[in-house]
Amino acid sequence: MRMHEIIIHNFKPNETVYYDLIIIKGAIRDKQTSTCRESRTDENIYLELDSTNLSFKLVNGKFKALVELKSLQNSITLKYCCSIITLDINYSPRATFFSVLPLYIICEGHDGKFQSPLNESNDVGNALRRITLGAKLLQSVVAEKLYEEKQGRKTFRLEDSCRVFHSSLNYLKARKMIQEELWTSLGREIVNSDLGHERIKFLSFLSCTKYCGENCEDNFTHDDIVKLTQAHVALGGGGLALFGTACLYTWPEKLSEVVEKFEDSTTVDRKKFMDDSCYRGTWGACFSTTLGAVLHELCHTFDLGHTQKGIMGRGFDDICKVFLCNKQTSPGKMYQNSIKFDEKFESNLTEARKTCSIQSENAKDQDDTFWTRSCLIFLAHHKWFNNTKPGNKKIIKFEPALRVVKSTDGLRVIELRNEDNGMVLLSWTFEGKILKYSFQLPEDDLGELRYHSVMMFVEDNAGNIFKHLVNI
Ligand SMILES: [Zn+2]
Ligand SMILES: [Zn+2]
Repeated sequence: MRMHEIIIHNFKPNETVYYDLIIIKGAIRDKQTSTCRESRTDENIYLELDSTNLSFKLVNGKFKALVELKSLQNSITLKYCCSIITLDINYSPRATFFSVLPLYIICEGHDGKFQSPLNESNDVGNALRRITLGAKLLQSVVAEKLYEEKQGRKTFRLEDSCRVFHSSLNYLKARKMIQEELWTSLGREIVNSDLGHERIKFLSFLSCTKYCGENCEDNFTHDDIVKLTQAHVALGGGGLALFGTACLYTWPEKLSEVVEKFEDSTTVDRKKFMDDSCYRGTWGACFSTTLGAVLHELCHTFDLGHTQKGIMGRGFDDICKVFLCNKQTSPGKMYQNSIKFDEKFESNLTEARKTCSIQSENAKDQDDTFWTRSCLIFLAHHKWFNNTKPGNKKIIKFEPALRVVKSTDGLRVIELRNEDNGMVLLSWTFEGKILKYSFQLPEDDLGELRYHSVMMFVEDNAGNIFKHLVNI
């Protein structure tokens, strides 16, 4: 005698995931053939795992539930009105050699408390919990995005929860340094420490970031905000992604707070705290923009370049939508004009742009968070996303005379990037089961790029990466 039915959209029974924080997406369907005796007043769906009870809002009959898997086998019960279903999910941490380690960097002389309003806890333990949770949310976003594009739920592995790193750099000195200096100096220190390892990428946050907006007028731009923030960083590349913590006060500490933090409409007090929200001005938007920015920078450590659209462009402000059902419209008009990027966007190669935008329009756009195709395939075959064993160096080479790229392990992605800003100008992906071992860059595709020098990035089937300045 059912009328309601719970449908799961993104998981099949007994699926195995390699990370512990999953997003279950689904809907409640009305069955017309029978009648439900319950009145439909409940706006929530209820989940139970072990003895933990969770509830998530239904929006137009749809839901997204964030669940933490604590054991290898998990039986999740979902309840709505007259319908109860059970979803079994297996959790098996990936046995890969390559990982990401979140760090909370405390500079010499600093107490380790990040800047926050008085009623927000901001001690070291609190920072570690916020950063660990943020890293897990990103693991989940990446897995879900690759799954949507039929690449399986691949994602990076976390080496551990966030750890404290005590830097010998004095915090007052750090506050006088520019982003690049901080990135270079701290990166060198981490690499040379006991933690340093070529198989670990560091996702680091600097505790001593300080926003000083007391004496400023209210209508300032993002550039002004950044100028007012000492030891503010958002840079990623090589083995280090580094961030300031001036907006960490908007991040959740516990999983149960994620949805409310994304939806938090409290206005940022710009006299006191950093507003990095893409001109939306709320705590929720700050959380979304800064979490998205962390993903963008982390992806630079996975060797991704820039794209006009998507996460590697400015398309990361609405990462909240990956977790929320309700679609808010974002102030897209401001994105291109008002916001300065971590590196300059300059490309007058119109022909190449065309290729880029065609790709992004093909990409899934349901929640506005996506990678363009070559970025997505790059990640899917990256060593940090697979069970690659270190040391199997295969040969990738480029023969300029014929413009032929050769790989002994099979080509997956070829990108030509602008040397200055890393913008992907042209790209080719090879996604079939039958590997391609050589490819001639088609002269017709090259257009204005012909006879120019560009950065060539090639990734093979085993995740080996060739990067070289080439003349094509
Ligand atoms: Zn019912
Ligand atoms: Zn970037």
